[in-house]
Amino acid sequence: ALPMIYVVTPTYARLVQKAELVRLSQTLMHVKNLHWIVVEDSPLKTQLVSELLAQSHLRFTHLHVETPKEHKRKESDPNWLKPRGVEQRNLALQWLRENRQLSDQGTVYFADDDNTYSLQLFDEIRSTKRVSVWPVGLVGGLRFERPLVENGKVVGFYTAWKPNRPFPVDMAGFAVALQLLLANREARFDLLAERGYLESSLLQSLVSLEELEPKANNCTKVLVWHTRTEKPKMKQEELLQKQGLGSDPNIEV
Ligand code: UDP
Ligand code: MN
Repeated sequence: ALPMIYVVTPTYARLVQKAELVRLSQTLMHVKNLHWIVVEDSPLKTQLVSELLAQSHLRFTHLHVETPKEHKRKESDPNWLKPRGVEQRNLALQWLRENRQLSDQGTVYFADDDNTYSLQLFDEIRSTKRVSVWPVGLVGGLRFERPLVENGKVVGFYTAWKPNRPFPVDMAGFAVALQLLLANREARFDLLAERGYLESSLLQSLVSLEELEPKANNCTKVLVWHTRTEKPKMKQEELLQKQGLGSDPNIEV
């Protein structure tokens, strides 16, 4: 049978959340044998996410864990100050370890809610034996970052930012075999990882560089983009609110 793809998505409440999740869910609807693990960064599961998942007809698991306060980004902090979605991804790993067995075939992919995913990417991901890698567009201050491949093997990385990281790859640029995660039960993302080292904190305990499996035509095709959504300005909304003329709160955006 076609191996399952487990897509792990951390998500948190904000004005653009529903738009992000509608876009992502409608991409995932086109992918066969997919299981979406959505982990809310919240003290409770929200109605917005619950309903969106139920209506999507996707195979899904809905989890939640709030990022501990001391690790949570404040409105005023620059967005790179604290790692984002770490506890959420780790909870998904825990769920997989508790609910799946070594005999289950699958690949795990960490897909943030705001990126842009080509359907072709999922065809590449599915055949992952241990850890597969590929280019990511619009990231690291570059048009793309990518693994460098010689004779079918990864020999290094094209990246400009902190190139000495053990695995200078974005979260969107790799997938891990479910079996590898089940066999290495301690492997997880490090909440205290230095900026840029989150991906390495997981991958270091799973593979060596030589073992990485290059996908997307020897890492020459960009099939995922690290897009980021602009925070909407709510100037008019706030003005109207003050006059008691704010928009209908029963209408979900
Ligand atoms: N995220 C989260 N809690 C937060 C901030 C972000 O769960 O407090 C999620 C977010 O929804 C996304 C992922 O973590 O799926 C990465 O966050 P973001 O896209 O803001 O990171 P960036 O693209 O800036 O690296
Ligand atoms: Mn993002």
